[in-house]
Amino acid sequence: MADEKLATSFEKLEKRIIVSYSVETLSDLRIGGHDATAPGEVDKLVIKDGKGVPIIPGSSLKGVLRSEMERLLRSLGLKACNVHETNGGCGKCTVCYLFGGGRLAGSIRIRDARAETRKTQIRDGVGIDRKTRKAMDGRKYDIEVVPRGVRFTGKVVIENPRLGDGDYTKLDSFLTTVRFFNETVGAIGGATTRGFGEVKINIDETREVTAVDYLEGNFEGRPIDRDDVKGQWRGYLKTQGAGGDR
Ligand SMILES: [Zn+2]
Repeated sequence: MADEKLATSFEKLEKRIIVSYSVETLSDLRIGGHDATAPGEVDKLVIKDGKGVPIIPGSSLKGVLRSEMERLLRSLGLKACNVHETNGGCGKCTVCYLFGGGRLAGSIRIRDARAETRKTQIRDGVGIDRKTRKAMDGRKYDIEVVPRGVRFTGKVVIENPRLGDGDYTKLDSFLTTVRFFNETVGAIGGATTRGFGEVKINIDETREVTAVDYLEGNFEGRPIDRDDVKGQWRGYLKTQGAGGDR
């Protein structure tokens, strides 16, 4: 049957979750690489979109959140690959299933966050030797940063949130990981050990849109109460053997 073939060769969209999130800077934020080659140049450590608005790439957020999820799962005695050691993910573990890895596309897609202001600030920076990564004496650079108190907003799309027994397990896995990140690392970008990049991720809104909604032109879908999904991720991890037999 032709229809059956279609159904197996294309991923079926049942439901899509749209999470509106914001990132609030609690200290100077620098995300880009080290560009300046001579003293007196401005090192551009702020990534901007085509309109000059600073952005936090979704891939940066995904990187830190994924690491946190890996860490949490391993702490609970579950298998989770290390994305750096496996050259992009094993493609078999729960973390790869959620965030992508190996040949898996992943269900959680984090889009870039855009700053609500174009304003950046210039700070004195110490020159870093490219090879040794050590500070070079007397070589000062100006570095561009996003100062504290700036809000970035973006969206996360989660396809087909059901996993195990929970209808919204994937959403709860994301929300739980964000809480874990805020409580533990709470920083993104380069030089986080020197007080750069402290942030707080806020979840502003969660909505669901079904295939029928898309058909009917209801692209906004409906809001989801986050209290209703609480515990689904924990429940799933327990079925996977998290925390032993307690
Ligand atoms: Zn993996």
